[in-house]
Amino acid sequence: MFYQGVLTKMETELAQPIQYYLVFETDFLNMNQLLNKTLHLKFVKYQCLHCGLNKEIYRQGFCKSCFFDIPQAADWIMRPELSTAHLDKEDRDLTYEKKVQLQPHIVYLANSSNVKVGVTRKSQVPTRWIDQGAHEAIEIVEVPNRYLAGITEVALKDHVADKTNWRTMLKNDIVDEDLVVWRERLKAYIPEEAQDYFIENNAETHLEFPVNQYPKNPKSLNIKKEGSYSGKLVGIKGQYLIFDDQTVFNVRANEGLVVEIGVD
Ligand SMILES: [Zn+2]
Repeated sequence: MFYQGVLTKMETELAQPIQYYLVFETDFLNMNQLLNKTLHLKFVKYQCLHCGLNKEIYRQGFCKSCFFDIPQAADWIMRPELSTAHLDKEDRDLTYEKKVQLQPHIVYLANSSNVKVGVTRKSQVPTRWIDQGAHEAIEIVEVPNRYLAGITEVALKDHVADKTNWRTMLKNDIVDEDLVVWRERLKAYIPEEAQDYFIENNAETHLEFPVNQYPKNPKSLNIKKEGSYSGKLVGIKGQYLIFDDQTVFNVRANEGLVVEIGVD
């Protein structure tokens, strides 16, 4: 069986284990059903997720000219503290910015390789945690807009990490942490504007990934450079496909690439 389409990050469903779907224009693949099967990946061309042209992808699935132009790729996406829609101030497109920024946001702690702080729209819980490969996570603050979440994250970064180590996450060298204890410890560092939004009573969410075999020494596949790859799928964690020869493929980092996937 052959499938072809432009890569976008896998859709997920919170289940035990998590279900993963690769969605193409005309097909979708439940990746869990492909575990223990040999996959053949082939790079075909680029297809910018905004303009659709066959132009080299720059970042986040967009070609360079789209990346520097469209509101979906503005700086406040990666740096929420730069959000200005709550001040009625436009960055690239105020209508879009109001729609995305002026809605409930969550500041959370997630443990994928270490405990880290992060921000997401409330509607993206637990998707965001799944995408990061976190085995446990907890919401700590729920605020009405992206700016407040951003300044909270910035303040907490002095006391907890804000990055994950993808190798550690994939090797599953994990330590279980009591995130309720972390939440209480960090409470004192939440900025004044956000203190009223602290979440007092909630519990950790635990996530179970469909992995049969963790790689001891993960090697990242560069499909653009290699052109093609074949291997037996042995697991999925975060947005990574894990193969039996320790090759890993980050689907999200390859958004905007058109690939052909063959399944034996
Ligand atoms: Zn484009």
